[in-house]
Amino acid sequence: MVKKANDSTGAAAENAAGRATGKDGRGRLRAILRGLDQEFPEPECELAHGNPLELLVATILSAQCTDERVNKVTPGLFRKYRKPGDYLAVAQEVLEEDIHSTGFYRNKAKNIQGACRTMLEKFGGNVPDTMEGLLSLPGVARKTANVVLGVAYGKAEGIVVDTHVIRLSRRLGLTVEDKPEAIERDLMAIVPRERWIAFSHQMILHGRRTCNARKPLCDRCVLGEVCASTDKDV
Ligand code: SF4
Repeated sequence: MVKKANDSTGAAAENAAGRATGKDGRGRLRAILRGLDQEFPEPECELAHGNPLELLVATILSAQCTDERVNKVTPGLFRKYRKPGDYLAVAQEVLEEDIHSTGFYRNKAKNIQGACRTMLEKFGGNVPDTMEGLLSLPGVARKTANVVLGVAYGKAEGIVVDTHVIRLSRRLGLTVEDKPEAIERDLMAIVPRERWIAFSHQMILHGRRTCNARKPLCDRCVLGEVCASTDKDV
């Protein structure tokens, strides 16, 4: 069977999204959730961390970078910087050097130090455990906030929408949107809230391991039967 790898677009995608969210779509969504459960029964965040601060820093570092690369940098980083004050005790250039290999190191260093400053000023040096608090930290948007809330605090306030979730949601026909906030809204409307945390990890893992951007492994995909992209197979 040859499956079309391109993202769903235009009318086809609208039809697919309609099937995912309409009356008939509920069975298909259940099948998608079942397939993801089957593939990743106990999904976990792949960023190594030991506390909420480490998770926050690792998540900031993971922007435009693989978790694998971040996990190579953070052991040394977390030995050196243990508290928010530690990140502020060095010049930004020093932190830039320490995180250099994760890319975009200037912005990342600036955001980490800004977040640490705000945590010290407003949150007693702790990583906030609310969406509002997290979004008040420089450089923290909903994606990072959802990772921290879900993984560090077990709070389902939203769904993590990264590049994998964007691609996979569109291919599966769960949305026709392309902006992360709109996609998150669509997903939150159809996926049961108690599934949000696990669903986020499962989608990211499936996007990484199977539904790759360039060469999706459709022939061995557990979602092949219900994927909107397969509707256009020849
Ligand atoms: S979800 Fe599975 S079947 Fe659909 S495009 Fe991705 S790899 Fe292919």
